Amino acid sequence: MEKNIETIAGDTEGVSYTFPVYRFAGIAAGAPSAYLQAALHAGELPGTVAIHTLMPKLRAAEAQGRIRGNITIVPAANPIGRAQYLFADHQGRYHLGTRVNFNREFPKLETPDPALLPADDALATVDRQLKVRLLKLSLGHDIVLDLHCDDEGVPYLCVPAELWPAMSDCAAAFGVEAVIIWKAPSNGEFEEASIHPYLASKASAEHLARRVIATFELRGMLDVHYGYAEKDAAGLYRLLVARGVIEDRTVKPSGAFKGVAAPIGHVESVKTPKGGALLYDIKPGDRIAGGQRIATVVYLAGEDGGAVEIFAPRAGYVLTRRARRIVRANEDIVKLVGERPDANAKSGPLKE
Ligand SMILES: [Zn+2]
Repeated sequence: MEKNIETIAGDTEGVSYTFPVYRFAGIAAGAPSAYLQAALHAGELPGTVAIHTLMPKLRAAEAQGRIRGNITIVPAANPIGRAQYLFADHQGRYHLGTRVNFNREFPKLETPDPALLPADDALATVDRQLKVRLLKLSLGHDIVLDLHCDDEGVPYLCVPAELWPAMSDCAAAFGVEAVIIWKAPSNGEFEEASIHPYLASKASAEHLARRVIATFELRGMLDVHYGYAEKDAAGLYRLLVARGVIEDRTVKPSGAFKGVAAPIGHVESVKTPKGGALLYDIKPGDRIAGGQRIATVVYLAGEDGGAVEIFAPRAGYVLTRRARRIVRANEDIVKLVGERPDANAKSGPLKE
């Protein structure tokens, strides 16, 4: 294993950002390669601890000569977001200097050639420099996994429509409970920037079948536990074995994916009409009936009639819910996966 430190020059004097990159060299020419990154939204740590738990398994595989394809790993991809605190509150989703989401506006190349990316010294804000660097590190790998988490949610994958159902073996190997299938554009998410060059250059169906590109949403912000880290590390390892990056005959085939798989147009965001204190009746992973009460929002505490009940607009599967229990009017409180397309479904990314 080789360790390199990447450095991003800051926008202000005396500031720079660094993050480590770990590389395992594969021993089989032509074997699939993999790139894993976590915590692009800097406060989303389930993927970071999963990678920490995965690394000893990779080092053991390397020592035993079982790493077939090159593997590149970035356990904490966003040192800029990591350092952002506003009044003691961590802010890892948007770059405070530009107000741009760290997982939007990645450059979209017409071919998968890193030489087309701006040079390191090109004039750009520090968050944009980071995006260019991460894309440069990931380009050319057959498997590109971007590990995030939701507010509170089941473990689920977002995959480009062009790679589904070819990637259903990966969903089964990792053991996610749901898969959301999206179609471009998605405002330049890392995942979109990873698939775009292959679609724009009209890669063959055979070539695309080899490719794995996904955003992993590893449950919720607070789901940083030994047990989940172990489970997710085992899932990532199984995926790498299933796709031939690592050889391990003790890993059994995972069988067919049996979770929920739906196009993004089937996902409905349920909003609260009032701001206040949020009481949930349901949790991620529940299957609910249309008309069932899903939450109550107390907006005039202590008054008769000071609460509003919110009912499921239709039957579905609860993908995610809010982590905070204080809400504003019109805020999304639940994402529900229905059987049919939602008339109000928006295109683009699942979250703001
Ligand atoms: Zn995220």
